[in-house]
Amino acid sequence: MIKVDALNKSFGSKQVLENISLDFQKGEVVAIIGPSGSGKSTLLRCLNLLEKPDTGTITIGAVSLNTDSYTKKEEHQLRQQTAMVFQNYNLFRNKTALENVTESVIANKKLPKNEAEALGNSLLKRVGLSEQASQYPVTLSGGQQQRVSIARALAVNPDALLFDEPTSALDPELVGEVLQVIRELAKQETTMVIVTHEMQFAKEVANRVIFMENGQILHEGTPEEVLSATTHPRMNQFLKSIN
Ligand code: ADP
Ligand code: MG
Repeated sequence: MIKVDALNKSFGSKQVLENISLDFQKGEVVAIIGPSGSGKSTLLRCLNLLEKPDTGTITIGAVSLNTDSYTKKEEHQLRQQTAMVFQNYNLFRNKTALENVTESVIANKKLPKNEAEALGNSLLKRVGLSEQASQYPVTLSGGQQQRVSIARALAVNPDALLFDEPTSALDPELVGEVLQVIRELAKQETTMVIVTHEMQFAKEVANRVIFMENGQILHEGTPEEVLSATTHPRMNQFLKSIN
């Protein structure tokens, strides 16, 4: 489903991703953890070419691309395979919850408005926001806004969802409702890559945990292997630091 081979990325002289290789199956839920600045966001952003990798190949679903050189068309095709959920929701402030969800399917997929709205309403229902469809983001809590942004990501029917710290901007009491939505998606075998600091959640929902540091994957395995391990010194240090 997602395969990355020898991905490298530098900003100026600083190498931020070093020879990253990944291979995720359909339906897998992968949690990426690691200290701030380790390259987690850059890795997610490279997967949908929001950042242009220096070298490497990326395959998502049926689309494969060599990052050395690719056409606009290939870039567009790869981007269609995923949808991203950001820490700060990134909703359009001047659009209602429903309009935020339907915007891209109307603009990019040319879905007729009534069909887009039916889809949007069903997705808002799925994230528990049927009642809020006509509300503007400013009138919604952070947890509700993030659930709208998850519905928006689902609207394009991506092969995989990419989450970049989806609960980091939320007040503690609002984290649970967002994790619950992601938990439900995991049950339905949605392929997801989730950058998170919520270790308990990662343990519960992920099939696989990847620990990154300094642009490299230092440790990778099942949640039990990675999060309970006492044998990996850097991993232990990191787990101690966040507890
Ligand atoms: P994480 O998400 O793990 O905190 P990031 O991927 O955001 O890490 O950042 C990794 C490194 O790349 C950091 O040192 C960061 O300062 C640097 N970086 C990220 N984006 C840019 C950019 N657009 N320009 C220059 N440096 C960047
Ligand atoms: Mg980040």
